[in-house]
Amino acid sequence: MDNIKDKIYDRSPHIIQNIIISLFNIISYKKRYGSFYKSYRKQYLENRNLSLDELKKIQKAKYKLFIQYVNKNSKFYNELFSNIETPEELDNIQQLPILNKETLRKNINQTYTINKKNGVISKTGGTTGKSLEVIYTHKDVQERFAILDNFRNNFGYNLGEKTAWFSGKNLLSKNDVKKNRFWKTDNIYNVRYYSTFHIHNNYLEFYIKNLILYKPKYMVGFPSTMYEIAKYGIKNNIEFPPKTIIAIFPTAETITDDIRKVLEGYFKTNLYNQYASSEGAPFITECKNKKLHLELQSGVFEVLNKNDQPVNKGRLVVTSFNTHGTPLIRYDIGDTIEISEDLCTCGNNNPIVKQILGRVSDFIYSEEMGKINLGNISNCLKGVHGVIKFQIHQKVPDKILVLIEKENLIFDKKNEAIFIKNLRDRLGSKITIEIKYVDFIEVEKSGKFRIVKNTLNI
Ligand SMILES: [Zn+2]
Repeated sequence: MDNIKDKIYDRSPHIIQNIIISLFNIISYKKRYGSFYKSYRKQYLENRNLSLDELKKIQKAKYKLFIQYVNKNSKFYNELFSNIETPEELDNIQQLPILNKETLRKNINQTYTINKKNGVISKTGGTTGKSLEVIYTHKDVQERFAILDNFRNNFGYNLGEKTAWFSGKNLLSKNDVKKNRFWKTDNIYNVRYYSTFHIHNNYLEFYIKNLILYKPKYMVGFPSTMYEIAKYGIKNNIEFPPKTIIAIFPTAETITDDIRKVLEGYFKTNLYNQYASSEGAPFITECKNKKLHLELQSGVFEVLNKNDQPVNKGRLVVTSFNTHGTPLIRYDIGDTIEISEDLCTCGNNNPIVKQILGRVSDFIYSEEMGKINLGNISNCLKGVHGVIKFQIHQKVPDKILVLIEKENLIFDKKNEAIFIKNLRDRLGSKITIEIKYVDFIEVEKSGKFRIVKNTLNI
């Protein structure tokens, strides 16, 4: 898209831009929905009620094939595994070293098993600002989309259903902004792409009115954007018509209880979460009972403590079977999750995740209170009126900077005091809290919004 965008897209009028997006989608969907895609969808569908033992058996077999392939085709892993006896046995997984993003990034050229031109490239962002380029094989891409589409299909979704998409691509021209038009539409696949880069109080009304007019059945994409829209609608008493949205499928960001409550409440629908990363983590998907299930057929999930011992709540280390191009084996993805012992009645016998706590860097550290996670931080807005957005920056352990985008008429000294008290309740009394009022808090280059920007190395 970047190439097309630079050359023709930017200079074209709105209607032509819509057509270019449709054409681009035709090309990329062709890659996604090839011959393997269909058979994967069928396979995962047929396997959806397997017992846990049967799922584990499949996982073991897939692990073996995957490690054998990687050992043969990836120079980096081949050297890494040279002293390990039968690394392809899942029972021996703990003998393999754990990799983090930095190690993978440094060795990325020796990790690739295919050329860029033979695969599909995905760029991942990162809190450190260094991006990682991952190459997928076409077959892997098709398997990943098959898993994703089966998940969304549980709630009626199919390609072509009217969808509002909140993605990280900046598709708007200056003229669009001037005309208060914050979207582009693919009329072939019935997708309207809403910008995630213009979430400003001056524009949100146009987003809501357009959503009401467009009547999408599904909403997909960055929850932080939909959340801002919903909050604006609630505050300004703009009623969103019931029975419009069948389901919301968030991507890429952590879902806090507050985000879920606001989105489901305002859009009068259900949100179904799913976890997978741009570097290719195996899948975690939510079922109709609102339980998150690991998909054992897509990889191995290890939840480990500081000493790399298995625990119920800890850092997530993944091995992903559909990363043949840039294999992820015992990859510390930087997220924390909690596994549950519960069983689910939905028919899916994959293990259940109690909660996904998000990026390890999505926390504020206080010497008094320890790590305060994203959910707790977003709860600081409880009882506070007039904050449009806030973002916390932390570079040193004893100080934070809080940027606040406020509504001048509502956010008074009293609200400021409540907000600071909420922060103090969570961060303790010793840490220095500096508040800075700003006109606008920028989103990341990827279009995501981060509540916390933490560069502490803890
Ligand atoms: Zn379930």
